[in-house]
Amino acid sequence: MKALVYHGPGKRAWEEKPKPVIKEQTDAIIKITKTTICGTDLHIMKGDVPTVTDGRTLGHEGVGVVEETGKTVTNFKVGDKVLISCITACGICDACKKGMYSHCETGGWILGNLIDGTQAEFVRIPHADTSLYHIPESAEEEAIVMLSDILPTGFECGVLKGQVKPGDSVAIVGAGPIGLAALLTVQFYSPAEIIMVDLDENRLNVAKTFGATKLVSKDAVKEIMKLTDGKGVDVAIEAVGIPATFDICQSVVAAGGHLANIGVHGKSVELHLEKLWSGNITITTRLVDTVTIPMLLKTVISGKLQPKKLITHRFALNDIMKAYDTFGNAAKEKTLKVILTNK
Ligand code: ZN
Ligand code: ZN
Repeated sequence: MKALVYHGPGKRAWEEKPKPVIKEQTDAIIKITKTTICGTDLHIMKGDVPTVTDGRTLGHEGVGVVEETGKTVTNFKVGDKVLISCITACGICDACKKGMYSHCETGGWILGNLIDGTQAEFVRIPHADTSLYHIPESAEEEAIVMLSDILPTGFECGVLKGQVKPGDSVAIVGAGPIGLAALLTVQFYSPAEIIMVDLDENRLNVAKTFGATKLVSKDAVKEIMKLTDGKGVDVAIEAVGIPATFDICQSVVAAGGHLANIGVHGKSVELHLEKLWSGNITITTRLVDTVTIPMLLKTVISGKLQPKKLITHRFALNDIMKAYDTFGNAAKEKTLKVILTNK
């Protein structure tokens, strides 16, 4: 089969690899029908994720069809249409029993990281019973792909951790796919204002059509304070992962507010406790657990949530090298999410 293989920083190839086989009786082999590329894959390509080694097939998102199952898999059978979670969960370890699948003792984020991932014609999914989700035959596959990672990430790490309530003012710093996923899902809670912050005007315009009430492209702290009568926002969601954007969040969170970090940080940030200590502020971090996939799946299938809007480019899986270039030049190509279809 063909797979997108990482060969060290800056090096990737679409090349022949052996088709995966069942290793544990809890595994399933999935024939990928649609997959995508994540910002995390670009970090891997830069060499930022040292756990990913030469020879690894990338990708942790996708939908497909069950090709084969191990003997102890009971919830899925050959031919079932499935959504693959970016997080693998055994369902029975201490972390899983707390719903913290991201810290599963034999799972967590391993796909396209510690084991071969979904940017291939076939993928092996460990703990299949608890890491795959049934999708209806009629479901729109490309919308469902957005549920592998970005929608649960925006929702769990941003919206749920931020404890957004009806009438709140919310600032989302970063209008990339994850920030936009937070923007889509924050509307479950009817905040009064959603201020979207980004340097990219195109992304802000997209945010407007997704339900943002205010757009801020420069002087973010000053502008947000002006928009909130000097009070700041009830919830600041960090969806970039650099010191500058974390700093915006800690400068605009109102007394009693929440600062929910989603961004993957590679450098330490300066925490201004000398200003924050008296503010009754809650700062949260989280790795996505994907425990909200069943709930989000219902809202997508009913049409309440429309993540298909995040898809800007479509390629055949065979053209994944080109898709990486397009995704990597997001500002120029106006890329949000790309969909790769395996024919
Ligand atoms: Zn991802
Ligand atoms: Zn577990």
